[in-house]
Amino acid sequence: MSYKLSNASSIFVFSNKNEPALKIKSGEVVEIETKDCFSDQVKKEEDIISSMDWDKVNPVTGPIYVEGAKKGDALKVILQKIVLKKRGVLATGKDMGVLGDKLDRLYSKVVDIKDGKVIFDDKLEIPVKPMIGVIGVAPDGEGINCGTPGSHGGNMDNTMIGEGAVLYFPVFNDGAYFALGDIHAVMGDGEVGVSGVEVGAFVTVKLEVIKGLKLNNPLLENDSAIAAIASAENIDKALDAAIHDFQELVSARINLSLKDISMLFSVVGDAQICQIVDPLKTARFVVPKWVLNKYGFVL
Ligand code: CA
Ligand code: ZN
Repeated sequence: MSYKLSNASSIFVFSNKNEPALKIKSGEVVEIETKDCFSDQVKKEEDIISSMDWDKVNPVTGPIYVEGAKKGDALKVILQKIVLKKRGVLATGKDMGVLGDKLDRLYSKVVDIKDGKVIFDDKLEIPVKPMIGVIGVAPDGEGINCGTPGSHGGNMDNTMIGEGAVLYFPVFNDGAYFALGDIHAVMGDGEVGVSGVEVGAFVTVKLEVIKGLKLNNPLLENDSAIAAIASAENIDKALDAAIHDFQELVSARINLSLKDISMLFSVVGDAQICQIVDPLKTARFVVPKWVLNKYGFVL
C-alpha cells in the first residue's frame, strides 16, 4: 500500500504520547506533506516580526506508527523523493547564528524557487539541493521538542539527508512514531546564520522495520558512503560519539583490530559538521563504502 499524509497532522514534539496520524505496515510507502519551519506563517518579510507565533516553529508531519517496530529494532527510512513547494523563507537576527552578535534585530527574506533554483536577489540564483532538517522517531521516555536533535534524530540539519539517502533510526517505542519536517531547498554545512531556505514540501518515504539492528544513534547510507550521526552540547563531543558508534559497528561485524580501525578511520573517514546553531550540535563521521566493502561490511 502507499499513503498520503497531509500537513494538517502537525506536531511540535517527538513523543510516544502523540496520537498516530497514520498506521502502516513495514515496507509501505507514504507521501508526507510538510509545512516550512515557521508553519508557513511568513508570507512577507515583516510577518516574522509582526505576526509570528513562536510556539509554532519546527512542525513535523506525523507521527506514523509502523506496525511490528519494537524497542531494539531499527527503522529504515528510504528517502525516495522530495518535491519542493514554490516559496522559501530565510531568517537570521540578533543573537541568532554565528554573526548574531553583530545584527541588531530579526530579519527574514522570502524567495521564489523556480526551475530548480532559489532566486536570492537580482544577481544570484542558487541551485537547489533539497534536504530534510528534522526527521526521527519518538525518543526513550520524555518527549523532545522538534527544535532539538538527539539519538532519536530530530533537528539534525544534515545536508546528507536528501533524495536517495537511507536513514536508520534506533526504535525506542512500539511503532517507532516516525515524523519529518523542516525541509530546506538548500543549506550549507553548519547552517551558520540559523536557517536554510525553509520551504514546505512533499516527501516520499518507504519505512521498513529491521529486526534486531541495535543502534545508539541515527545512521545514514547513500550510494557512496555510510555516515554515523550524533548530537551533543558541542561538535567535539558529537564527533566523538559518532566515531565511537562507527567503530563499534565495524568491530561487531568484521575482523579488523582496533588499531587498524583507528588507522583506517584516520586516513579514509571524514569528520564533518551538520549544524552548529541548534540547542545541541550535530556532526557526522563519513566512511566510503568502497573501503567497507573490501572487508565485507554489511549493516
Ligand atoms: Ca532545522
Ligand atoms: Zn529549517
